[in-house]
Amino acid sequence: MRNEVKLKGFGARLKSLFGISTIDETYFEELEELLIEGDLGSKLTLEISDEVRELIKKKKHVNASDLQVLVKEQLTPLVHTYHPTIDPDHLNVFLILGVNGVGKTTTIAKIAKAYKDQGLSVTLAAADTFRAAAIDQLEIHANRLGVRIVKQTSGSDPGAVVYDALSSAQARGDNVLLIDTAGRMHNKENLVRELAKIDKIVQTKGIDSDHYKKFLVIDSTTGQNGLSQATIFHQAVSLDALILSKYDSLAKGGSLIQIGANLGLPISFVGVGERYEDLELFDKERFLNALVGLA
Ligand code: GDP
Repeated sequence: MRNEVKLKGFGARLKSLFGISTIDETYFEELEELLIEGDLGSKLTLEISDEVRELIKKKKHVNASDLQVLVKEQLTPLVHTYHPTIDPDHLNVFLILGVNGVGKTTTIAKIAKAYKDQGLSVTLAAADTFRAAAIDQLEIHANRLGVRIVKQTSGSDPGAVVYDALSSAQARGDNVLLIDTAGRMHNKENLVRELAKIDKIVQTKGIDSDHYKKFLVIDSTTGQNGLSQATIFHQAVSLDALILSKYDSLAKGGSLIQIGANLGLPISFVGVGERYEDLELFDKERFLNALVGLA
């Protein structure tokens, strides 16, 4: 909860700080503190702070929006967008990853609905066999949305579920296969090994990289933890893009900037609520404007 409150005010606080006319050392201390609290990390914080110092040295009259625009300009190259396209003549496979509770299952349901509404045939694969509740939850969504689900009993081999799902989706000529995966196991090594195995199965079934994309769901209220999550999953399966969930929950997603800066991963979708319709394509301009309080 603290995170949400903290991040809620980030853009607004940046804006009010930029409006202060006496610019002294305290000003820069406050700016740096704010950027750190906004999950931008120490390296980026110092870079931004130095740029602001330069600007103030150069220009006599600096107003709030000059500074907001300057910070936005610095962040712009660190944020990337990837809007996936579906090739209707092939099976398109999305592997959906993320730690438990980030909104993975909900996001899969939202993507399934979006593509089903476009007239595409969608199948879900319940490969988080580690939690019985995860299979049940995915099945509830599949039934509500009227899409097919491939599942086995909990505790079964996730690789076998993925293999079955791929075989049947290919045989039926499906357009989209969305694979749910485990977000936690006994230990990190097990999780990484399991995910790498699934990744290999998709590739050995002949799905090329144009038709196979790996997404990590990041809870936008997570903060600094987001970067360590992304690093682990990226090492395991080499991610293609991020999906930002719970963006409606007042957070502005400063940790996304850090992930972008460190791993160079683009963002595809943004979850903005709990309903199936609450999924949007990532809009970089809007995201950055909201972050620096220009919105
Ligand atoms: P999983 O464990 O990662 O599969 O997480 P779930 O999909 O079960 O979601 C966990 C909780 O987050 C549920 O209560 C969802 O309704 C909620 N949730 C998921 N996405 C969003 C979102 O974009 N906005 C909001 N407000 N809640 C979300």
